[in-house]
Amino acid sequence: MHSARGARVAVIGAGIVGVCAAYMLRKRGAEVTLIDRDEPGQGCSYGNSGAISPGSVAPLAMPGILATVPRMLSDPHSPLYLPWTYLPWAVPWLLRFLASAGSDRVADSVGKLAALHAGAVAAHEALAHEVGVPELLVQRGHLHVYPDEQAASKDAAGWRLRLECGYTVEHLDRAGIVALEPSIGQRYRAGRFLPDHATIVNPLRYVQAIVAAFTAQGGQLQRADVSALEPQTGGLWGVRTSHSSPSFNHVVVAAGAWSRRLLDPLGIRLALESQRGYHVQFEPAPHTISRTVVLADRKVFVAPMEQGLRVGGTVEIGGLRRPPDMRRAGLLRQIACETFPEMGRVDSSPWMGHRPCMPDSVPVIGPAAGRPGLWLAVGHGHLGLTDSVNTGRRIADQLMGLETSAV
Ligand SMILES: Cc1cc2nc3c(=O)[nH]c(=O)nc-3n(C[C@H](O)[C@H](O)[C@H](O)COP(=O)(O)OP(=O)(O)OC[C@H]3O[C@@H](n4cnc5c(N)ncnc54)[C@H](O)[C@@H]3O)c2cc1C
Repeated sequence: MHSARGARVAVIGAGIVGVCAAYMLRKRGAEVTLIDRDEPGQGCSYGNSGAISPGSVAPLAMPGILATVPRMLSDPHSPLYLPWTYLPWAVPWLLRFLASAGSDRVADSVGKLAALHAGAVAAHEALAHEVGVPELLVQRGHLHVYPDEQAASKDAAGWRLRLECGYTVEHLDRAGIVALEPSIGQRYRAGRFLPDHATIVNPLRYVQAIVAAFTAQGGQLQRADVSALEPQTGGLWGVRTSHSSPSFNHVVVAAGAWSRRLLDPLGIRLALESQRGYHVQFEPAPHTISRTVVLADRKVFVAPMEQGLRVGGTVEIGGLRRPPDMRRAGLLRQIACETFPEMGRVDSSPWMGHRPCMPDSVPVIGPAAGRPGLWLAVGHGHLGLTDSVNTGRRIADQLMGLETSAV
């Protein structure tokens, strides 16, 4: 493959995935324009829980999921919610999701996720240093807590996979949990500790720092809504916005949950669905925890952010247009206050973001088949922060001709 040094590349989407791809491409010598309709980092990457979780190699659709999903959907307090009016739109994706829970498909996804996650903490550590914000990466591990060992055993497959992939997992009793995080409520008596995992304690500031380094190195940042990608003669791509349609040698689509709007008209049909997630961001208060804590029975992440405690989670399959249902964030606040009673006195603000999810949890990274010059960095689901640097490297290495493997 020839070297693309000096190639004109447009990256569509300045979420964490797009900014990492743009930065890595610029570092390798491409002329890069990063385009977003908003300020960088205002999409899903704004409000995530900051967890760098390379051990999360189990896809969401695991064997046995068929038995749990209907029960979850009928429970208003469950971490999974599907408004009935959206059901007809969700069915095709849900069928693919269930189909990917077969053991062969799961084994394939685990292999791909493990390869993508590998070295994620070190990659983020290096990048945070490089772009001048080393303080944003805190490496104190992740603590997953359960009411008891019986509850923990429901996640046994996921823990076994982490061990098989070489991650350290320490089993804790109540005393072990309290030794790490004294303020965790009595509900939690069994734990699993991942000492090698890390947290970005301000995901938005991280995106902004990467963009600042990108522009300082000559990258262009453009604010525009891209309405279409147009193949042109000579192998070029036109990027149509409301005010112009410049040409590029390559286009990288990293538009998160909105990527289908650009890809469908080109005949590239990705099974991409938004899994809407929520957080509550508490006002600054004396920190109750010092590392990421996962309330595993409720699928809730609690993170000690620079701005205060952030409590994130829930999956709502409700599409891109429906307004947020902030009752979901209210549930997160309730769970946080049950676990850390002192948070009951602290104000919080809610947020909703669109996780870009593939049915098998495996993002699509690499050249678009049959469309030379078009590249995809889409579908990072629940782990887009974790995988952003490795995705950026893969795209940049492949596009610049430094590596030929397709993902
Ligand atoms: C509650 C919650 C908690 C999470 N916690 C974690 C976590 O702890 N760890 C982890 O690894 N991941 C986590 N995630 C997932 C992670 O946040 C996402 O996977 C990641 O942010 C996706 O990044 P992205 O760049 O693909 O998409 P986005 O951040 O959504 O960026 C896409 C960008 O494209 C732009 N765009 C779209 N269409 C166009 C267009 N036509 N023209 C111009 N611009 C366009 C948008 O404005 C947006 O800025 C969490 C998600 C949620 C919701």
